[in-house]
Amino acid sequence: MVVLLCTGVLGLYLTFTLKSFFITQIEQHLFSEANLLLSYLPDLSENPSLDKFARSLKHQVEARITILNSEGKVLGDSDQIPSSMENHLFRLEIQEALQKGKGTAIRFSSTLHQNLIYVALPIKKSSRALETSGTSEAPKLMGFLQLALPLTELEHNLQEIQNKIILGSLMAMLLAVILGISLARSLESKILSIIAFTQRIAHGELEERMKVTSQDELGTLIQNLNQMAEKLGEELKVVFEEKKEKETILASLTDGVLVVDRHGKIILSNPVMEKLFGPDTSKLLEVLQSQTIQNLIEEVQEKKSKVSDEIQILSPRKIDLAVEAVPIKGEEESPEGTILVFRDVTRIKRLEQMRVDFVANVSHELRTPLTAIKGFVETLLDGAIDDKDHAVRFLKIVASHSDRLSRLLDDLLTLSNIELGKIKIERSVVPVEQVVQSVLLMLQQKALDKGIQLTFEASKDLPPVLADRDRLIQILVNLVDNGIKYTEKGGRVSIEARVREDQPHLMEIAIKDTGIGIPESALPRLGERFYRVDKARSRAEGGTGLGLAIVKHLVEVHEGSMRIESQVGKGTTVRLMLPIAT
Ligand code: ATP
Ligand code: MG
Repeated sequence: MVVLLCTGVLGLYLTFTLKSFFITQIEQHLFSEANLLLSYLPDLSENPSLDKFARSLKHQVEARITILNSEGKVLGDSDQIPSSMENHLFRLEIQEALQKGKGTAIRFSSTLHQNLIYVALPIKKSSRALETSGTSEAPKLMGFLQLALPLTELEHNLQEIQNKIILGSLMAMLLAVILGISLARSLESKILSIIAFTQRIAHGELEERMKVTSQDELGTLIQNLNQMAEKLGEELKVVFEEKKEKETILASLTDGVLVVDRHGKIILSNPVMEKLFGPDTSKLLEVLQSQTIQNLIEEVQEKKSKVSDEIQILSPRKIDLAVEAVPIKGEEESPEGTILVFRDVTRIKRLEQMRVDFVANVSHELRTPLTAIKGFVETLLDGAIDDKDHAVRFLKIVASHSDRLSRLLDDLLTLSNIELGKIKIERSVVPVEQVVQSVLLMLQQKALDKGIQLTFEASKDLPPVLADRDRLIQILVNLVDNGIKYTEKGGRVSIEARVREDQPHLMEIAIKDTGIGIPESALPRLGERFYRVDKARSRAEGGTGLGLAIVKHLVEVHEGSMRIESQVGKGTTVRLMLPIAT
């Protein structure tokens, strides 16, 4: 478009100036010819010769010649009969010649039907007188000499020039378009590749770099973009690393961490939260909406300092949680959100409960025999001591209660010693048959008294176990004693020992009875201190409820394990797993 406009303006300007240039040239030419003619012009009074003069010289000057008198009347003309021609005085060129000494005009001739250029010069007397007399009197206007030339040729030439200019312009335009398109193409392809590059960067492909192909502004742009991508990549890497670090820290925490914003929306949580509340977030949201947590969050926002409370959730499993809420300080004083830390305190709470129960149990266990002893001693002091029969019976009761007291204290001491790690077990290679034989020896009488059959079955070539002999006897005595105690008359208690087929490094010693059994709900609690399924029966049997607790601990220090299976009314099997001595 720019080329089109430029060549158009140039063409117009050229044709215009050329036309006026050529016209001036023609005018000058015609004037010089007219001046030449003036010197050969016959006297204006010789009317017929004037016409002849005009006609004869027409071809020499190649222009129409017209001679007028001072009034504008045509005296002679090269092309027409003078008498038929109108007065020329008021024509433009004649008027101009009259005033300025020479005149020109371009006009459309109605007789010739084309544009003509006219020049006119005044004819003055002195021009002729000069030659003859040499006097210097003021020249007198005699008439006018007019030359006319059709502009057809000039116009034709101009048209041709114009055509050439148009053709030239068209060629220039074509060239400009071809050059422009190829330039635009190469520019476009470069810009398109830059666009694609920036899009890839926008999509996060920051490893990408563009080749700098030129040293121009585009080259600089590409260089800058490359630098930008590099810088961005480095900064993102730092951000990613920081994020990863934070995530690792959060993931390695043992407490659940939850961050909520000012509106209670969850911003962040760590994997422990999922462990506590399950993968389904609905449970967590429910807890978050609970009164306790809502109050905590409100309190934190108000106090702007740490507050804590405790909650208990029942699903996915029952856990006690200590919740600590800490405000996240915002730019202004008002907190931006809250960090909630959930700590599983189920175990701690259970231990606390166990401690409380233990103290209560010990006191209770001690009170019963002590009350009995005190009662009987007081009765004796009150005079029963004199009644010998009664006195002996009472003293026997006192003795049995003191036995029970001392057994209780022994058991407690053993237990606490094991727990404190005070009891050293000395492990040696112990043949199982030997140990079982001594246990049977100790309890045979008790079983006989109760009418219970006591047996031992073992596979041949039973290997020895690695254990503390006395402790192993203690374990077995406790278990067999339980079997006898909780089996009715006529029942059977058997000890079976064999090497485990699936784990050949382990010896399994099973103590089976056909007794009353233990309800399933009570199984997990066996081994707790003072836990007894049937308190009255246990007490009647002289039990303290500490036997299994001691056994459990002793098995543990032997790096063995114990499993109890039972069916109410059918019997109980306690399986001991102990390492085989190699
Ligand atoms: P201790 O052993 O201290 O004299 P205990 O026998 O009552 O007293 P544990 O040996 O710890 O205490 O046993 C705890 C409870 O487990 C018993 O009171 C009883 O209710 C139950 N129990 C243990 N062994 C058996 C068994 N073989 N059959 C039925 N119940 C059992
Ligand atoms: Mg027992």
